[in-house]
Amino acid sequence: MNNLLHDDPFDLQARLAAVSKRDAWRRRERRDGPVNPHVSVEGQALLSFVSNDYLGLAGDTRLVEAWTRGAQIYGVGAAASHLLGGHTPAHEALEDSLADWVGAERALLFSTGYMANLAVVTALAGRGWTVFENRRNHASLIDAVTLSRSRRVRYRDTGDLETRLAAHQSGHGFIVTDGVFSMDGDVAPVADLARYAQAHHLGLIVDDAHALGVIGPAGAGTLAEAHLSPRGGIALVGTLGKALGVLGAFVAGTADLIEALIQTARPYVYTTAVPPALALATAEAVRIARAEEFRRTRLMEHIAFFRAQAAALGLRLEPSRTAIQPLIIGSNRATMDAAQRLRRAGLLVGAVRPPTVPAGQGRLRITLSAAHQIADIERLLAALAQLPVVSA
Ligand SMILES: *Cc1c(COP(=O)(O)O)cnc(C)c1O
Repeated sequence: MNNLLHDDPFDLQARLAAVSKRDAWRRRERRDGPVNPHVSVEGQALLSFVSNDYLGLAGDTRLVEAWTRGAQIYGVGAAASHLLGGHTPAHEALEDSLADWVGAERALLFSTGYMANLAVVTALAGRGWTVFENRRNHASLIDAVTLSRSRRVRYRDTGDLETRLAAHQSGHGFIVTDGVFSMDGDVAPVADLARYAQAHHLGLIVDDAHALGVIGPAGAGTLAEAHLSPRGGIALVGTLGKALGVLGAFVAGTADLIEALIQTARPYVYTTAVPPALALATAEAVRIARAEEFRRTRLMEHIAFFRAQAAALGLRLEPSRTAIQPLIIGSNRATMDAAQRLRRAGLLVGAVRPPTVPAGQGRLRITLSAAHQIADIERLLAALAQLPVVSA
């Protein structure tokens, strides 16, 4: 068909050239077969340190069986939104078990963490509200604050937040933070944040995407570790595609909070429910994540082993006690080069560049899993020791 529009009305060529020029081009590579830790990418066998499957559940046969059973009962799609026929006992049972896990009155399911964050922030904040957000928050939270049209106050750390809170005139608002920062792996000081929130009559929202299943008693997250729960003025977002190995997310909080989301959160109301079969698989993942403490123990052993050995090698570690262990390299070029060298040694490690991280802080993002063996981590360390750029 001959169309008469201008050749490049979206200005794509200039935009793509700009990405390429700053060494920020991203490529998708095809992985074959299961996820963790031995993978095949573009036909090459690699040992993977990129997945968020921290407990080794994504390929668990019990989840596959639950999913299959669910598909036989419900078919593969929910085929409708929760409010117009898509809601099932499978969804509700999962919500109940999630609420029970994290100590909330209720929980509400979403298809992704991105949507859950858009929902909770835009439903709760609006014009005239103030949202205090950590500068390192996940992109979905930052976008959510923009979409909410509230006043955004960005803070660097708790000291900076204190200063900004002192300058804050009274009025509606909340503090929002990642529980574990996704590119650095450090844990947010949620007990301090809860205290500040209380002192200033603000709410607190914690996005525990990288903490759920990993941190806290029975993996219940950063709030549980701090002897807090998503009650009163605190809401928790958990995602189900990371340590739980499946897909989706939830918001947990008081019954009123959940009801408010059902009534008013547009990313809840105007979207298709997740497949009920997936909810059944996820409920099985929740059961296993709570019950099989040895998975967390193994993961913690792997983290401790990696950090001790890396320190002995003189590698420059960041202050992380979680599965996310970044090694900051610097320029985009050097970051990609380091990842390529590891790749040639048969290791798959994430290379993260701006805008995901601040300019000049390109890094290797190593994620550890209970599914690794100590020998796998030794192999990684041996290859890292050969890199010129990560030593202290
Ligand atoms: C991954 C992630 C999300 C998004 O979750 P998805 O289910 O992948 O959409 C949200 N917040 C944080 C902190 C994350 O790391």
